[in-house]
Amino acid sequence: MEALKDVIQEALNIKKRNKVTFLTGAGISSASGIPTYRGTDGIWIKGSKHYKPESFGTFEHFSKNADEVWQYTFFRKKMFAEANPNEAHYKLVRLEELLKDRFNVITQNIDNLHQRSGLQNVYEIHGNLREMRCASECTKDIYEIPKSIPLKEIDEDLTYEESKLLVCPECGDHTRPNILWFDEFYNERIFKLHTTLKIAKNSGLLIILGSSGATNLPNRLVQQTLQYGGHVIDVNLEDNGFTNNFSDKKRFHSYRGTALDFLNLFESILT
Ligand SMILES: [Zn+2]
Repeated sequence: MEALKDVIQEALNIKKRNKVTFLTGAGISSASGIPTYRGTDGIWIKGSKHYKPESFGTFEHFSKNADEVWQYTFFRKKMFAEANPNEAHYKLVRLEELLKDRFNVITQNIDNLHQRSGLQNVYEIHGNLREMRCASECTKDIYEIPKSIPLKEIDEDLTYEESKLLVCPECGDHTRPNILWFDEFYNERIFKLHTTLKIAKNSGLLIILGSSGATNLPNRLVQQTLQYGGHVIDVNLEDNGFTNNFSDKKRFHSYRGTALDFLNLFESILT
């Protein structure tokens, strides 16, 4: 623990490439009661259909089952709306006030809890469920998901009138949630691929909070920070994908505990 404190202290004192970046995943929202979908549970859809996230969360699945995916999207939005930011979310807001321009959050989460906690500098690399876009990509326009459509229970269908609001105004095709699915690729326009890689390059310290390292860009961000001389601290209750990929690197450190415990430690060093 003392060694980790020294790493943090040193990173806070550097002048070049001195950004402090937090990469957050589902683990930070589990204390808000939002399930992660990794592991054993999977996704249950009305009618007792059971999917693995990796097959449900694809454009291919959406292209054949748009109504089902939209129904599930409104159920998920309801779950997010009923959850509240937790202490770790609010602690990051406090750290943003202290670190100002040096501070960034890059999040894999689409649950909107960072925004609702009042955080300013947050990059949503897997998109969000506030917005939608044309499923045919006929236009680059992004639309707000209509607030007039009420959020849904797990077994509650969208009405015909509601479905009509989820149509591209340009070409009449379906719209789709503005998120990244498993069979899709990161880009700059929606997912801030280059912006976040640049932030990682300029980070003296990249702290992973509750991400399992199962997706591509988070691993590239860690790689990028390490390559340009920064330190990475993986805060997680257990070993995970990042441990497998990076634990042989000397500037990669592991903290085994909760996000909130780590953030309290970090704040005590900072103030
Ligand atoms: Zn269109």
